[in-house]
Amino acid sequence: MSSSQKTAILSVYNKTGLLDLANGLAHQGVRLLASGGTAKLIRGAGIKVEDVSSITHAPEMLAGRVKTLHPAVHAGILARDLESDEKDLAEQNIDKVDYVVCNLYPFKDTIAKINVTIAEAVEEIDIGGVTLLRAAAKNHSRVTILSDPADYPSFLEELRNGDREVSEASRKLYALKAFEHTADYDATIAEFFRRRYAGDGVQQLTLRYGANPHQKPAQAFVESGQIPFKVLSGSPGYINLLDALNSWQLVKELKESLNLPAAASFKHVSPAGAAVGIPLSEVDKRVCFVDDIEGLDNSPLACAYARARGADRTSSFGDWIALSDEVDAVTAKIIGREVSDGVIAPAYTPKALEVLKKKKGGKYTVLQIDPNYEPPTLETRQVYGISLSQQRNDAKITEKTFSRIITPNPDYKLPPEALIDLTVATIALKFTQSNSVCYTKNGQIVGLGAGQQSRIHCTRLAGDKADNWWFRKHPRVLDFKWKKGTKRPDKSNAIDLFVSGLVPKKVEGDLEREQYESVFEEVPADFTPEEREEWMKQCTDVSVSSDAFFPFTDNVFRAHRSGVKYLAAPGGSVMDQAVHEAADKCGMVFVHQETRLFHH
Ligand code: 5GP
Repeated sequence: MSSSQKTAILSVYNKTGLLDLANGLAHQGVRLLASGGTAKLIRGAGIKVEDVSSITHAPEMLAGRVKTLHPAVHAGILARDLESDEKDLAEQNIDKVDYVVCNLYPFKDTIAKINVTIAEAVEEIDIGGVTLLRAAAKNHSRVTILSDPADYPSFLEELRNGDREVSEASRKLYALKAFEHTADYDATIAEFFRRRYAGDGVQQLTLRYGANPHQKPAQAFVESGQIPFKVLSGSPGYINLLDALNSWQLVKELKESLNLPAAASFKHVSPAGAAVGIPLSEVDKRVCFVDDIEGLDNSPLACAYARARGADRTSSFGDWIALSDEVDAVTAKIIGREVSDGVIAPAYTPKALEVLKKKKGGKYTVLQIDPNYEPPTLETRQVYGISLSQQRNDAKITEKTFSRIITPNPDYKLPPEALIDLTVATIALKFTQSNSVCYTKNGQIVGLGAGQQSRIHCTRLAGDKADNWWFRKHPRVLDFKWKKGTKRPDKSNAIDLFVSGLVPKKVEGDLEREQYESVFEEVPADFTPEEREEWMKQCTDVSVSSDAFFPFTDNVFRAHRSGVKYLAAPGGSVMDQAVHEAADKCGMVFVHQETRLFHH
């Protein structure tokens, strides 16, 4: 062999385009070496090719498990243009390899087959091919690695035009592709064995389906280490986990920031309610349907959940719950009688666990999370096949977040209650689908607008919910005369209709009206506009936080109507000054908080 002759090693499972490539290489005077099946096809087309064994002097062995794994191959690929490498090669009589063409066994296709066995999958784990790809890609400063048949034509063209040389730019791109090929291959193998060997719930959790029943298969997994939660009861679904992992972060951050037990009630990956454990007044207990719960005053965690669940009972129906502290029997009792999907918390007392495990005929999902778990700082997800990666939103919401008061004067300090309320509102927004605006009072959400494209719609939606919460405290609502046996969710829905002012008119034969009336022993009189106005006037000192700036003053005016006194929002709008002035004129305190908190 002349020393200027180039050498190519070909070993491909997917033989698409192979003959054209081999032909092109042969025309350039390149020496062709190939593994069994690849050599056979090339030879069969009348193109001159040697078996790899002509340089390894060893036959293919173990039914193909060892084909190209040999120093004669890999030293030839890995050698650099260094004197010491040349010397090593000369001593062993090994020639340098210039081009490697390789693609791997079809592991993905094999494991996609129904009922594939481990033995079948194992046989499809390519060893030598991965080594060829890695070695050639590692030495891409000298060697060209082709792993994709789609690249053969352009490679040949470059070879023809460049006197058998391939440009550095092309070699780099081919190497990158080869690394991606092996990375994807190994990720598939790891996932296959994770499902079989890691044990369900350790590193991987099989889910019944994804967001919808037709989205199968579905799973949750970590790429290394263990899933940071245990399933104590039931089996979580895909949306349950989205709720659980978001709501847990919310209560963890609330607890860290305010040093109070915290609770969240989630639906569709946004909070329906969230609160810290501030004791409830007798009226609050009735509004939250917990006036009969014994021991409530002694359990701050139960108070937090009562408030979170009581904020918007209609929205919380079938919620996912997150609790910052060990769940006690009182909290479990409140959960036990509500319609709910599951709960995540760092611990459960034996009594609490007993209650929760019995719920839903034993199907209620109970997760225990490791409170010390720290997620990676970079998070990645895929949308439509594209991976998006970003730094986690690790912005800390603390007292300092609310130190820049714009109105009424810079020396003004927020009262401690407002500081708690703004913290609850702002941390809640961090885990609410944007756009979002949150109204809080007494350490709890009272109105939350999530996922609205327009900020004013969001402010209105949240404001209307806050008004509903306020009207639920009205003596007429508290004294509703229910028909015996009316279920809690039916009461919540009737109250919601009543306080929203959406009660259907009394018309003979109107089904909706009939259903509405059916839950009452005595049908209550609707609020008159005057009664509404009068009651609303008594709602004061509410706080509001917004996940991004208010682009128009209308948001301020809407918040004002719901008794808002404290407003927190980032700046950055051309309307900032007008917004601040509007807040000032309405007698509100505007806090400029620095961090935009979009969440999707
Ligand atoms: P052929 O059809 O040429 O017999 O085999 C080509 C396939 O073998 C390619 O997919 C290549 O990645 C793979 N291969 C090459 N060398 C080895 C080896 O030493 N061991 C194993 N298990 N596979 C190899």
